[in-house]
Amino acid sequence: MRMILVGPPGAGKGTQAARLVDTYGIPHISTGDMLRAAVKEGTALGLAADDFMRKGLLVPDEVVIGMVIERIAKDDCAKGFMLDGFPRTQPQAAALDDALRAAGVSLDAVVLLEVDDALIVERITGRRSHVDTGEIYHLKFNPPPAGIEDKLVQRKDDTEEACVARLQKYHSETAPIVPFYGSLGILRRVDGVGAPDAVQARVQAALAG
Ligand code: ADP
Ligand code: ADP
Repeated sequence: MRMILVGPPGAGKGTQAARLVDTYGIPHISTGDMLRAAVKEGTALGLAADDFMRKGLLVPDEVVIGMVIERIAKDDCAKGFMLDGFPRTQPQAAALDDALRAAGVSLDAVVLLEVDDALIVERITGRRSHVDTGEIYHLKFNPPPAGIEDKLVQRKDDTEEACVARLQKYHSETAPIVPFYGSLGILRRVDGVGAPDAVQARVQAALAG
């Protein structure tokens, strides 16, 4: 299964990906996670990305495209992968298409998690993750277990200001790539509002159908 999860910031892509990779036995490739790891390690790539990420802007295509194309060429992606947060621009979608075509493979599905802008800020500002495991929580919608308060971290870009910038980028750069996947007949639109279990059931039904 070669698939993409797309949707606005805070739509639940990371939450659903973590649940789905076990079912499909494919690696979860999150460009946000890869970039945050590079920032933490202080690599050249991380240094190039840090400022864009803090401001809620997109990291330049030339930085992200190389990183993903290299990653999906690895052995563990031979049977498939779940891309989360990539592609996010038209050039990224074109580069992915070229790379898959050159490898003689194609995408099976693109899942679009739909959540209204009005719900996004609350999801983003309440997001916390476990510093060691990366497990994603929400202070209200998916509260962390008691006793791990000192292990919870908030992303630097999960402020209301950066969230608004990210939503704008989503509408101007990312949403326009969706019709391309529609034209390939592999787009699956899924309502991302409701309990995570309910959303997961919808995604699985969409992938099965
Ligand atoms: P994305 O990867 O699309 O940015 P996340 O999976 O990190 O989104 O989810 C954003 C925030 O919303 C997290 O705090 C997460 O716990 C919460 N969340 C995820 N799915 C749902 C849902 N179905 N309903 C309410 N909150 C959710
Ligand atoms: P979200 O929860 O908003 O979906 P991600 O964790 O996927 O966030 O991404 C966080 C930030 O990393 C983005 O706001 C952007 O700065 C950068 N980023 C992640 N993926 C990409 C990409 N494919 N192209 C450009 N920038 C990206």
